[in-house]
Amino acid sequence: MAVEASKHIALISVHGDPAVEIGKEEAGGQNVYVRQVGEALAKRGWKVDMFTRKADAKSPTVVEHAPNCRTIRLVAGPEAFVPRQEIFEFLPEFVEGLVEFQEREGIQYQIVHTNYWLSSWVGMELKKRQPIKQVHVYHSLGAVKYKAVSAIPTIATTRLAVEKECLETAERIVATSPQEKEHMRSLVSQKGTIDIIPCGTDIHRFGSIRKADARATLGIDPDEKVVFYVGRFDKRKGIETLVRAVGRSRVRHSDRLKLIIGGGSRPGQADGIERDRIEGIVDELGLREITTFPGRIGDDVLPTYFAAADVCAIPSHYEPFGLVAIEAMASRTPAIASDVGGLQFSVKTEETGLLCPPQDDAAFAEAIDRILGDMEWRDRLGEAARKRVEDKFSWDGVAAQLSDLYESLLKEEPAEEGESLVKAIA
Ligand code: UDP
Repeated sequence: MAVEASKHIALISVHGDPAVEIGKEEAGGQNVYVRQVGEALAKRGWKVDMFTRKADAKSPTVVEHAPNCRTIRLVAGPEAFVPRQEIFEFLPEFVEGLVEFQEREGIQYQIVHTNYWLSSWVGMELKKRQPIKQVHVYHSLGAVKYKAVSAIPTIATTRLAVEKECLETAERIVATSPQEKEHMRSLVSQKGTIDIIPCGTDIHRFGSIRKADARATLGIDPDEKVVFYVGRFDKRKGIETLVRAVGRSRVRHSDRLKLIIGGGSRPGQADGIERDRIEGIVDELGLREITTFPGRIGDDVLPTYFAAADVCAIPSHYEPFGLVAIEAMASRTPAIASDVGGLQFSVKTEETGLLCPPQDDAAFAEAIDRILGDMEWRDRLGEAARKRVEDKFSWDGVAAQLSDLYESLLKEEPAEEGESLVKAIA
């Protein structure tokens, strides 16, 4: 399909490879966001190139996902996994790679949509070299994160400065929830233009499987009550709170309760260490018999898990958006989530699930008992959750809003800084 040159855009996600398997170390919401947004934009007539750092020498340089939607892996630093807090020094090489790629292919992107602060730096550097407009999504804000952690990494000062500069200079910042916008304003800067466009989910993939069928597939009895978690093993995900809540739950004594903790981990790596710690708590509380750890849950079977669950827990200490909440809700599974960040936006407490103070296992236990103790209410919450996602959080709706934003930016005055790369080639 021929696409006009201005509709050729670059999505940049330096550390979140959109083509990688989700659920492995550091692969989570950002990877899903970039991939889904890219594919949905391509369906709306955009030509989408998604750039990421090559983190595995054996992985292909280009992955075609769909017509007009591909991932391009640029060499920047070692072709091996590097934790995100150590990637900054390789960014100049990433920028060089991206400029060279455009020159080689005769492409001049008009719009670059950057993801996470590392990519925002790449976008700002590109703007110095070529007339390009920047749309940025933070995915996580240093100013929020560093408030919550005890050990502040050395990269923090750089990150905070880059995040501030990006907010003040990008043509548009996209906050994924009103709460995130509020944090940008109160903690980062009063300057800059912010739109709110949420994250989305696939409302066709999630919500199409009947609970009975899902349980038959997974070998779960119809009379079991299932609490489900899926996500990375990271302390800030609050899995400990969930395990302790299940330990306290009254339903556990009156019914057959099952806890499924899904997500990948690598022995010896940070996520493997967290998984061992969580398993230790499961044992300490005597929950081994009712808990399963299925490991990374692939795309093919994830909708089945959500459909089989009675409730989905998202006990994060903080969550800028939290894709899992809307995936569960799309599957008619009420969410029991921490009353923080984007979860306050996606989960309507008492209507589509319940919000609890973060790290409060007594409150999570109470929420589990309330919902699992009244299965008719559970079903009503699930239906309302599905409706809320259909109305507000489908990828198609999100891509339509992003597409309108790009179109409006293209109509504005051209970006001033930077020489045209294409002219430079000619
Ligand atoms: N995920 C998955 N399989 C797993 C673990 C996670 O598919 O085993 C997906 C999950 O469904 C969601 C994403 O990874 O789409 C996690 O996104 P979220 O915003 O909830 O958290 P993040 O990882 O960005 O902190």
